[in-house]
Amino acid sequence: MAVRGLKDLKESYDCVVIGGGLGGLTCANRLAKMGRSVLLLEQHTQLGGLATWFKRKKHIFDVALHGFPVGMTKTLRKYWSRDISDRIVQLKGIRFDNPQFQLETTYDREDFIRLLTDKFGATRETVERFFTVTREMNFFDDQAKTTRELFQEFFPDRDDIWRLLMEPITYANGSTLDDPAISYGIVFSNFMSQGVFTFRGGTDLFISLMDKELGANGVDVRVGVLVDKIIVDGGKAVGVHAGGKTIRARSVVSNANLKTTVLDMLDNGAVSPEFRAKTEAVRVNNSSCQVYMGIKPGEKIDFIGDLLFTSTAPKFDAELMLSKNVTSRTFSVYYPDMRPGGPERYTIVASSNARYEDWDGLTPEQYKAEKARLAEDTLNALEKYIPGARAKIDHLEVATPRTFKRYTLHVKGSSFGTKFEGLEISQNLPKEAPGLFHTGSVAIIMSGWLGAANYGVIVANEVDKYLGV
Ligand SMILES: Cc1cc2nc3c(=O)[nH]c(=O)nc-3n(C[C@H](O)[C@H](O)[C@H](O)COP(=O)(O)OP(=O)(O)OC[C@H]3O[C@@H](n4cnc5c(N)ncnc54)[C@H](O)[C@@H]3O)c2cc1C
Repeated sequence: MAVRGLKDLKESYDCVVIGGGLGGLTCANRLAKMGRSVLLLEQHTQLGGLATWFKRKKHIFDVALHGFPVGMTKTLRKYWSRDISDRIVQLKGIRFDNPQFQLETTYDREDFIRLLTDKFGATRETVERFFTVTREMNFFDDQAKTTRELFQEFFPDRDDIWRLLMEPITYANGSTLDDPAISYGIVFSNFMSQGVFTFRGGTDLFISLMDKELGANGVDVRVGVLVDKIIVDGGKAVGVHAGGKTIRARSVVSNANLKTTVLDMLDNGAVSPEFRAKTEAVRVNNSSCQVYMGIKPGEKIDFIGDLLFTSTAPKFDAELMLSKNVTSRTFSVYYPDMRPGGPERYTIVASSNARYEDWDGLTPEQYKAEKARLAEDTLNALEKYIPGARAKIDHLEVATPRTFKRYTLHVKGSSFGTKFEGLEISQNLPKEAPGLFHTGSVAIIMSGWLGAANYGVIVANEVDKYLGV
């Protein structure tokens, strides 16, 4: 189990992992299973990073557990345990409600083929070809083509189809039509294989099972420890500086924000000026706002779907989806069976994309007022689906990009790491400073629960190779 602080450390480790997000945790676990001695240092007092939860009154709110692809089952089974992977269940009620269409779907290939042909009138041949092309995309492909160009090729000027295909992905990770088509294709195909899945038991159980597993595999896990420097000596990473101590290690993996890792945690000169300049130019993905609502004990709500993608915007517009004047929000509804055996509790989380700049620099009064306005707008929007919702809620709280930055230290509170160019920096870091690796959300495709965990495995294998016998 994770321990607070830095008492009784070993003299040196094979690897120090900075950050206990899903990438860092998975990397640490895999390395330990390969027989390596691993120290994981997390600055927060809770593991999980963005995959987190918090308790208010008797409610437990999940922050980033809205849905992931089926691939998570295999990743968890292979690199964690069957006990964890067996708790994954499918979300079946996915609804869209916007001025262009209203529909319910299981969000998998078969159902989307049905919708695109029967409801939207596309030909089966075009739809099948679209699925084949997106499924065959991988991250070594050409990045020049944008998602807009991909859509235009298959469904020219059909902004209703574009909306169906893109809106959930934009909600999920903030990508736009102008991002590389491969980042769309990979994420979309991951979901289309079998639909959208969640973890029964909630993020709190998920992370506590991981914590136990790390302990069982011998990872030394410390929380409440901020790493301020990565030490590079003779061109190689040899440890970190944290809590006033120097900790020696033969390798270092940073799960902290990519830009922070290179630009703040390394001394100037540890990487080439060109690499530094390239890192400075990496754009981060946008952030999120969330409104968490707890339903009073004893109150029930009818099934209105698990995930509701709602919008009042006349057409799909990624820019508008990022705007502070929210017209689009996703409601995630957590019914009591989400946490079996617990009290009969319902919680609802409304999420929208958000720009850090829109929330930064507000005075405390303005910040409070803007949060209150977002809460009020969200309640009004929710009443369409749950009449009288307001009276059923006994706790409401708002998170903004500033909240995400505060808890994870991510540049601009980015919810999904960096834009595509971050991948090259993340992957090439060990070439610049041997022994130093990065894992965690970059380039969308290494993001989200599945991408981050899988990237953790990839990097663990690289570290193991570096360490040798
Ligand atoms: C609102 C929201 C909703 C989301 N919904 C979904 C979803 O439904 N499905 C999905 O798949 N994904 C979702 N995501 C994204 C997903 O949660 C993330 O992509 C993933 O969890 C990121 O994992 P990571 O490995 O990059 O690490 P992160 O979660 O970014 O964690 C990095 C960790 O490093 C720690 N750290 C940073 N600096 C230091 C330091 N100097 N010293 C020590 N520790 C440090 C941080 O405290 C943090 O714990 C959502 C994200 C947000 C914000």
